[in-house]
Amino acid sequence: MNLSRLGCSLTASGISIHQRGRCARCVPISTKHQAAVNTYSVIEVQEADTQDVEDAVTAASRAFPSWRDLGTDKRGIYLRKLSQLILESNNELAHLETLCTGRPISQFIDGSLAAESFAYFAGGGWTAQGTASLNTPDHLNLTVKQPYGVVALIIPWNFPLVMFAGKLAPALAAGNTVVLKSSEKAPLTSLYVAKLIEKVGFPPGVVNIISGFGNPTGAALASHMAIRCISFTGSTATGQKIQAAAANSNMKHVHMELGGKSPAIIFEDADLETAVAQTQFGIQFNSGQVCAANSRIYVHESVAEEFIKLFRAKFAAVRMGDPLDPATSHGPQVDLLQYNRIKEYLAIGEKDGTLSLGGDANDGFFVRPTVFEGVSEDSRLMREEVFGPVVAINTFSTETEAIEKANNSDFGLYAAVFTKDLDCAVRLAKALNAGTVGVNCTSPTNAKDTAFGGFKMSGNGREGFLYSLDSFLETKSILIKTARL
Ligand code: NAD
Repeated sequence: MNLSRLGCSLTASGISIHQRGRCARCVPISTKHQAAVNTYSVIEVQEADTQDVEDAVTAASRAFPSWRDLGTDKRGIYLRKLSQLILESNNELAHLETLCTGRPISQFIDGSLAAESFAYFAGGGWTAQGTASLNTPDHLNLTVKQPYGVVALIIPWNFPLVMFAGKLAPALAAGNTVVLKSSEKAPLTSLYVAKLIEKVGFPPGVVNIISGFGNPTGAALASHMAIRCISFTGSTATGQKIQAAAANSNMKHVHMELGGKSPAIIFEDADLETAVAQTQFGIQFNSGQVCAANSRIYVHESVAEEFIKLFRAKFAAVRMGDPLDPATSHGPQVDLLQYNRIKEYLAIGEKDGTLSLGGDANDGFFVRPTVFEGVSEDSRLMREEVFGPVVAINTFSTETEAIEKANNSDFGLYAAVFTKDLDCAVRLAKALNAGTVGVNCTSPTNAKDTAFGGFKMSGNGREGFLYSLDSFLETKSILIKTARL
C-alpha cells in the first residue's frame, strides 16, 4: 500500500479534500515492543490552513440545498454504498488504524462498526419526524425537524474510524453537509474513507474531510460564522475552548462528548469473576485510552483482598508486543506526549498511594498494566483523566460511602455497579451521577440502542443511533391559521 498517496492530493468531483500549508505529522509509534522511542514515523499529511477551511465551508454551503432536498431515500443510497465499501476495505482500515494509533490489530472491530453506522442511517433518516397538533383553535400546528445546514465534526484519535462514522453517517442522513476534521494523531482512516466516498460518487461539496491540528484548523471551524452546529468528541479542555469559540462567534449549537474518570463499584455479593473480567477489560482495552475506562475501582472491604488478587493476575497476563501481531493484546500508548503524561501520573500514584502492579513505562511507548491501592481521594490520580492502563483500587464499607466516593468527581461519563441484588443496583443507578450506569458490565461498545454521553464535565451531547440523528436536527414550529375547523 502506498501510504504517501493517501495524504496529500485527493481531489475529485465527489468529495473535496482541502489540504495545504504545513505538514501535520502522523505521530511516530513504535510497532516493536523493544523499539526505541521516537524512531518511527508512519507518514506526513498536509495540514489544512484557514483558507482550506474556508474553501471547505464554502463547498459545503453550496452543496447544502440540493443535498437537503434530495430526501432521505436517495441520501440513503449513497450511505448504503459507502457501508459496503467500508466492509470490503476492513483489512486496509485495520492496518492503517493500528499503524497510526498503536492499538493491537486483534482489537479492531471498527470496520464493521463503521459500516453498520452507515447502513443503519441509510434507512434510518426517516425517523426524523416531528409532531402535528389541532389543539389550538383554528390552527394546524406542526413541529418539524430540519437539518442545520453546514455542520462541523471534530474527532479524537482513540477510535478514529468509529468516531468518523458515528458522526458522519447521522449528520448526512439528517440532510446536513459536512466539514470533518480528523485528529492530527490519526488522520489515515479518515483519508482512506474519503477515497471511498469519492468512489461512491457523493455530490460535490457534501462531504469535506480535512486534516490538521486543533490550532489553526479546528479553531477556524469552531469560530466559523457559516457553521451552524459542531459535534465534538475529545478532551474536556478542548471542549471548553470550542464552546467558548462557538458562543463568541455565532452561537452555533455544540454537542460535547468529553473525558471521564469512571468509577466501578464492587459489592460484597458480586460475582467476582465477572467483575474482574469486566473491569480489567474496561481499563486495559486500547491500553486504557478509552473515555469510559473504569480508572477508579471501589471494592467492598470484605472482598477486597480476593478481588485484588484476581484482578492483578488477569491484568498482568496481557500480552504486550507488536500491535500488528494478532496475538498481541496490549499495545503502546499513542505517542510520546501521551506516554510522558502517563509517566507523570505513575509518579503521582507512588506518592499518594501504594504501587501494587506494573508502574514501569520504559519500553518504547509501552506502559505496563498498573494498579495502585489506597490512593488518597483528593490525589490527581483519582481526579484527573490519565488515559492509560492505570487503575486505582480503593475500598468502602457502606453503600452510602461507595456512592459518595464514586460521585466525588468533576466527570460523569460512565459508572459500573457489580452486585446480584437488583434493589441495590437500581438504587445505585438512580444515585450515580453519570450519563450511563452499567450493572454488572463496564464497556459500552455494544450498546448501540441507548444514549451515550456525559454528565458534568464529561459533556452535554448524546450519541447512539437515534440520539445521534436528533443531535443533527433543529426543531422548527410551523403555525397554520385555518378557517373554523
Ligand atoms: P483533544 O481534545 O486533544 O483533541 C480532539 C480533537 O480536537 C482533535 O481533532 C484536535 O485536533 C481538536 N482540537 C484541539 N484543539 C482544538 C481547538 N482549539 N479548536 C478546535 N479543535 C481542536 O482530545 P484527544 O486527545 O484527541 O482525545 C482524547 C480525549 O477524548 C479524552 O479526553 C477522551 O476521554 C475523549 N473522548 C471522549 C469520548 C466520549 O464519547 N465522551 C470518546 C472518545 C474520546
